Formats: sequence, C-alpha cells, structure tokens
Amino acid sequence: MAKLSIQDLDLNGKRVFIRVDFNVPLAEGGQEITSDKRIRASLPTIQYALEHGAAVILASHLGRPKGKFNAEMSMKPVAAKLQELLGKPVALAPDCVGAEVEAMLPAPGGVLLLENLRFHAEEEANDPAFSEKLAKLCDVYVNDAFGTAHRAHASTVGMIQFVPQAAAGLLMNQELKYLGMAVTSPERPCVALIGGAKVSDKIELIENMAKVVDKVLIGGAMAYTFLKAQGLPTGKSLVENDKLELARSLEAKYGDKLMLPVDHAVSTEFKAGAEYQNVTEIPEGTMALDIGEKTIEAYAAVIGSAKTIIWNGPMGVFEMPPFDKGTVALAIAVANSGAVSVVGGGDSEKAIKSAGVTGKITHVSTGGGASLEFLSGMTLPGVAALTEK
Ligand code: AMP
Repeated sequence: MAKLSIQDLDLNGKRVFIRVDFNVPLAEGGQEITSDKRIRASLPTIQYALEHGAAVILASHLGRPKGKFNAEMSMKPVAAKLQELLGKPVALAPDCVGAEVEAMLPAPGGVLLLENLRFHAEEEANDPAFSEKLAKLCDVYVNDAFGTAHRAHASTVGMIQFVPQAAAGLLMNQELKYLGMAVTSPERPCVALIGGAKVSDKIELIENMAKVVDKVLIGGAMAYTFLKAQGLPTGKSLVENDKLELARSLEAKYGDKLMLPVDHAVSTEFKAGAEYQNVTEIPEGTMALDIGEKTIEAYAAVIGSAKTIIWNGPMGVFEMPPFDKGTVALAIAVANSGAVSVVGGGDSEKAIKSAGVTGKITHVSTGGGASLEFLSGMTLPGVAALTEK
C-alpha cells in the first residue's frame, strides 16, 4: 500500500516534525563529526519543508546513551554542521520534550534540532506518554530516517497515533522506491549477490531473494557452510557447523538458483598481505578468505547479463588485501553492467567505495539493518506506521 509522501502534504505555516537519521560517526570525545553523509542525505527533505513554508523540528538518536544525558552524544556538533550545510541558523534544544522545548518551537522558515532522543529510555521503549509529548510539538509528522525504520520506537512508530498525518520524507521515498522495485517488480534477469560472514544472519534474505530473483550468487564465509554441507573439504575456513542442515535444506529448495564458489583464495594465515593460493579444492590446514579467479569470472558473467542486481555483503575478507580482490572485481562488474543496481548498506557500501565506483551504482541504501530486513521480506514498523495515501 502506498504511503503518504511529504509532497502530498500542505506544509504552509505548519510545524513539521521530521524524524531524521543523524546518527553520525563521531571522533572520540563526541565533538567532531567524522562523516556528515547522513546529515547531507536528509537535506533535500529539510529544504523541501522550508521552501513550502514549514517550521521545521528535527529529531534523531545518536549513539547509545542508554536513557540518560551524555555530553559525548549530544547533538551539538550536528547542529553546527547542519547550520553550515543549510546556510541558515539551526537552534539546538536542551532536550527533546517538555516546556523548555515547547518554548523554543520555531516560526515558519525556522529550524529547531531536538537533543538526542535516546537520552530518554522511553524512546526505545516506545512509551505512549513520551510519544504523546513528542507529538505535541508538531502539526505534521515526516519520517526520513530509513536507517531506523526497522525499529518500533516512540519517534518512529509510537508518536504517529497522536498526529493527524504521517508521511515519508524524500530520502525515505527514495529508499522505498528502489528497494521496493528490487523485490516486487525487478527488470529481469535479476541477480542477488549475497556475501558476508554467516548464513545464520542471512537465512531470510537468501530465502526471499531466491523467491524473487533469477539467480543468487553466494560468496563470503557463508559459502563454506554450503560447501561443507555438500561434503566438500573446507579446511580451516569459517563454517557454521550447526547450520549444515539449514544449508542443505536451502540447497534442496532453491538449488537451481543458487551459485556457489568453484574456486577460492586460501591462506594459512588470517592477516593482511598474507601469501595465498588459488585452488579449486581447499587443502587441509588452510582457510578460504576470498572467492577465486574462476568464480569471479563466472559471477561477473551472470552480473554482466543482469538487468537488476541486488547486493548485500562482501565476497571475502575485503578489509584485508589481497582478500578484497573478489569483492572489488564484482563491485566493478556491477558498476559496468548497465543494470539497475541496489546495494544494501554497511560493508558492501565500503567495498563499492574502495573500488571507486560509488557514482555508478543506482542506489546505495543508507540503512544496513533496515535494508537487510526489507530485502528479507520483513515489514519495517517505521514504514508500516505511516499514513496510507
Ligand atoms: P556481514 O556483516 O555478515 O555482511 O559480514 C561481513 C564480514 O564477513 C566482513 O567483516 C568480512 O571480513 C567477513 N568475511 C567475508 N568473507 C569471509 C571469509 N571467507 N572468511 C572470514 N570472514 C569473511
């Protein structure tokens, strides 16, 4: 069901509460922002609201302050950075609810940033009284925090019952458009590239992707649980021994769609710069740390003929060159494929950056956990709670 978008709302003269994801990385001490990417990602929504006559109230969590004030997780540096990026004053409230905050509410054209929502334990507890206090600050609610949409908290779900309208922001719309298209109406052939450490973290993703796409290419350590389940030697590679049965059942159900590595970069040492060999059979005493050359070629060929590609998780220990080779080669293959490419956040995003192909990916999700849940077919509470069109 389509959700209301900020573009469907009359914002003129209204107090608009925008739940943003300003959970930015901070240098030690909490004074300096090391990446302002998340702030930049919400600028179009904030600017849209201002241009349409709204008084803007922004709220986010930052870090894990565990329900009490912590100066190292204050939104202070975020307010300063936002002010610089917007080119207009941004007031910082001393709290996120209460009389003092209510006295600071801005006039149309003004921007107020609330203090860290998680300074109150009631935020994560989705407490109704706290939700009502947040809702009291505004006339209209907008959620632009896709990265937190998989959590049912006061600011993402609870307060919505106390506001007349709850709409998706422009960033949220963008995420729902591309991720939604990837799972509901992808142009075919559609290929999923799934890597990472554990099968157990990605069972639902593999299952849902296998239902939706034409081929699922498996890489990363999770491949070795599948190979061991087939009775193949895996040496000292990372294997989840309690998931062999699960791997067998996934193969039995979706075997015609799953592709597994046919060769591997193996080493006796788990460290950057370690010597390695390219092998088709993993020798005793070695561990597979990346997909091998033939696998890269085979996967790149499937990627090259795809019209839609969905990617989550690295193909090897990409943090430790030379075991980044498979991940980087496939990032380049995805970028050059000409297909619509949708990448789940986190490690795959880092890999794309280190391959230098960020600009050639159609959509890199801003939410690691949220995109994983979405692509796994789960309902995101923060999206479900928004008003239907
Ligand atoms: P995930 O968070 O599940 O996407 O897993 C990412 C992690 O999996 C990264 O830190 C990789 O280093 C790790 N990983 C990928 N391939 C392997 C491998 N062959 N052996 C050990 N760890 C791996």
